Amino acid sequence: MTGPCQRDGRIGSPAGLGFGETRKPMPHRDHHAALVREIRAHDHRYYVLDDPLIDDRAYDALYAELRALEAAYPDLATPDSPTQRVGGAPRADLRTVEHAVPMLSLDNTYSSADLAEFGRRVRDRLPKGTEPTFSVEPKLDGASVEILYRDGRLIGGSTRGDGIRGEEILENLRTIRSLPLTIDFVGPITLRAEVVIFRSDLRAINAERTAAGEPPFANPRNAASGSLRMLDPRVVARRRLRAIVWAVVEGEALAATHSAALRRLHELGLPTTWPELRICHSLSEVDSAIADLADRRDGLPFDIDGCVVKVDRFSDQMSLGFTAKFPRWAIAYKYRAERAMTRVRDIVLQVGRTGTLTPVAELEPIALAGTTVARASLHNGDVIRELDVRVGDRVGIEKAGEIIPQVVLVDLAVRDGDPPPFVMPNRCPVCGTPVERRSGQVALRCPNAACPGVVKASVWHFARRFAMDIDHLGEVLITELVERGLVRDVADLYDLAPATIAGLSRMGSRSAENVVSAIASSRDRPFDRLLTGLGIDLVGPVAARQLAEAAGSLSSLLAWTPAEVEKRLSGVAGFGPKMIESVRAFLADPRERALLQKLVDRGVSRGLEATSEPAAEPLRGISFCVTGELSRTRETVHGDIVAAGGIVHDSVKKGTTFLVAGEKVGRSKLEAARGRGTKIIDEVELERLLRDGP
Ligand SMILES: [Zn+2]
Repeated sequence: MTGPCQRDGRIGSPAGLGFGETRKPMPHRDHHAALVREIRAHDHRYYVLDDPLIDDRAYDALYAELRALEAAYPDLATPDSPTQRVGGAPRADLRTVEHAVPMLSLDNTYSSADLAEFGRRVRDRLPKGTEPTFSVEPKLDGASVEILYRDGRLIGGSTRGDGIRGEEILENLRTIRSLPLTIDFVGPITLRAEVVIFRSDLRAINAERTAAGEPPFANPRNAASGSLRMLDPRVVARRRLRAIVWAVVEGEALAATHSAALRRLHELGLPTTWPELRICHSLSEVDSAIADLADRRDGLPFDIDGCVVKVDRFSDQMSLGFTAKFPRWAIAYKYRAERAMTRVRDIVLQVGRTGTLTPVAELEPIALAGTTVARASLHNGDVIRELDVRVGDRVGIEKAGEIIPQVVLVDLAVRDGDPPPFVMPNRCPVCGTPVERRSGQVALRCPNAACPGVVKASVWHFARRFAMDIDHLGEVLITELVERGLVRDVADLYDLAPATIAGLSRMGSRSAENVVSAIASSRDRPFDRLLTGLGIDLVGPVAARQLAEAAGSLSSLLAWTPAEVEKRLSGVAGFGPKMIESVRAFLADPRERALLQKLVDRGVSRGLEATSEPAAEPLRGISFCVTGELSRTRETVHGDIVAAGGIVHDSVKKGTTFLVAGEKVGRSKLEAARGRGTKIIDEVELERLLRDGP
């Protein structure tokens, strides 16, 4: 849990997808069903598996989309929609109990404009002449629980679960020393609290665990949430958990206001947020209380991820009531990710192996969340237009999932004059060929297979460790070979003579001979490695191996008729219609056929050995977990890793060597990686590892 059940009030701009759904115009009913499916899947990952795939803001955007759709078509809001319940299900290994009062979510926001709107709505709904008082308190980043006191005794406790039913954890709560087992108050009290571990305690616990050879915890929230659900209270007792009460849901007899009730509990010996709570008589006081808390955030002993603003008087809360989902008298204000401002020096286009043009912002280098950021992908023309980012602009950079730098805003107030907007070119910036757009895709492509940009990227791919594994053939040399017209396709590599290369910059005759002999020895690579190196669409290393086995040799593959492609591959496991079509299109392309023939003529991959030997696996025994969106599908990336001898883990565990983080990465995965000593790398670094090994 991220706090007092803030997993639900979703706001934000449209963001990414997590489970491979493709967003396109759909009839609203299908769209609704797809959204519901996706949100349920994310809920399951978040609540049940503790392993979200996307961050809160991306999730919030999906949820907002669902709410908007149901507002437009109210008949879609059936009782089983995620908007009609709180989400998730308790784990099966602890007894589940029904909450005394359902644990609702809070609506939440990232903007003070929304906060002002919240204030206006509150005033409008209260009886004339009622001036609301607000409380502002930290939103703790731990695990939410329900705690019951009856006749002064602690008699019940449960995790949030799905909001209606949670896991019974009284025995574990009883181990929390700061939580009194009895209090001097007779009436029934039902409380909401956050179970947290102080940062200093986590350091001490992790030091002990490391000394004992156990993996350290990633962060206080995971440690608290995991500990609470343990089955053995004796172990829980050693975890230094604390419970901090942030709401009274039954116990009106305590006081007339939220703040006074927390204060009364504080006096009764219960830990509460009261010491950090501020009472505000206007929205501007609320704003400054939020700012003040943000300033003090790092000095607090526990992690917070925002503030909660509540209407303080219980009678006002009663008259405001609830929407179907949220109390109307409270809202969570969440802090944004860390952001840095810098200037765009240039916007350049990169041409990929398939001809895709990717605009990249070159930035004045700036420190952000621990690294220096000098470049940020702008993805495509739509993204650039939406941001209206131009060369020379001052821009805000945030790290998606704290890893991948993204341009999130342009400071138009300081734009210097009226620089021309960046437009995606009609022609390839490298070869001048008119660009194309594949149907249904935003990205533009250079369709010219002979484009030097495409050839460079193809040669680089061909030479990679998991493909033809050609040593000494680095990026600088490839660029020079292509730009001088010495290499027009990968087969040309085999015609290079030492004397030709020795004439190039930074190349002595000795290094030139090394390059040529490395290229020559790649002739004997197994057939599947050659197929991998050719980069047939949708055919990663695993499919390449199957294709190699089905064909036997390069010359027999070349002899396949289109009908034979279908016949030979339709029974092969993992070869779907799209992959078969891709192989057929590849073999039907005269240019590709010419290239294959050229390779046959040069004695490349003589087909003596159809598949790879394990000896050439640069990543042997190294484990990877891949998360977020990469430029290729998850399957092909997994295939590359496996083909290079690596191991793929579905989640970060003890002993996972690398976490490959793409875009839109869930924070918990990153934190899990940091906590377990797993090194976090990006896609570019993975490519390097695939080529060069660690
Ligand atoms: Zn081009």
